[in-house]
Amino acid sequence: MTVLDTQPDLQAGIDYWAKQPASLDGVLGGFGSGPLPRIDALGSRQFMLGILPELCTVPSTLRPPRVEPEPKRRYRALDVGAGIGRVTVDVLLRLVSDVLLLEPVESFIKEALEQCKNSKLLGTSHNDSGYAVGWPGIAEESKSVTFVKAPLQNFDPARPKNNTEILGRVGFTPIEDDTDSGFDIIWCQWCLGHLNDSDLVNFLRMSKNALRDSRSLIVIKENLCAERGGGPRAVFDEEDSSLTRSDLVFKRIFKEAGLKVFREKIQRGFPQGLYTVKTYALRAS
Ligand code: SAH
Repeated sequence: MTVLDTQPDLQAGIDYWAKQPASLDGVLGGFGSGPLPRIDALGSRQFMLGILPELCTVPSTLRPPRVEPEPKRRYRALDVGAGIGRVTVDVLLRLVSDVLLLEPVESFIKEALEQCKNSKLLGTSHNDSGYAVGWPGIAEESKSVTFVKAPLQNFDPARPKNNTEILGRVGFTPIEDDTDSGFDIIWCQWCLGHLNDSDLVNFLRMSKNALRDSRSLIVIKENLCAERGGGPRAVFDEEDSSLTRSDLVFKRIFKEAGLKVFREKIQRGFPQGLYTVKTYALRAS
């Protein structure tokens, strides 16, 4: 496995994040007020639409569909280590109907829950700066977000109620409970460094078993460090007790979890000086 002096510590990681403000700048290490959030979300939506184009909701004026589109089934996504819900609101709710948001830090998940509940009052109008104010689909109750407080260690996506605290569901309520119904998309961004290699393999194996069908996928969008002279490498950060892995380390872990990479893309357009960020789409091998 990865050669390291130190491994991530669950509590030290949570303690670090609990001291950060519950804001975009807080979850993005100070990059929340620049262009990064918009570039990141746009890159993520484009990546997903290249794989599941049926999730596109932009109608065409020039080529209207000849037949009425089939009624879409409800797609469901999991957002892990979700912080204040940045990916849920700007990527996942723009593509799917239902999101389960998992986050261990109280101040972050409470902020996300509050913002989502506020959407009921705000609707999906735009403010003076042109920003959408509400979370998509929440005021109309056509979409939903379920808030689950727990760390990723020992979280089973097939059984989200086990070992977790459910804070509530906002928006659409299904007739039949869908909690254990699996996911079309499992999204992991900027949080997997808080798991050591064996916890990560374990989480990915459980995620694979919670995918709904052969088109469902796990998406990983993470910082990458350079390889060590062509070989795999991981760097430990004492400040937040996390690991930054190289591409070869991730690929070895994916293989061990029984997953294959069927698409990978480097995110372009981020400010200089940051780690390379890569998005991987994974399916069962
Ligand atoms: N994915 C979000 C947040 C990134 S910040 C986004 O892209 O905006 C990193 C997040 O990982 C924080 O919300 C932090 O609380 C969370 N985190 C830290 N340790 C974790 C763990 N053990 N399991 C799951 N999430 C964790």
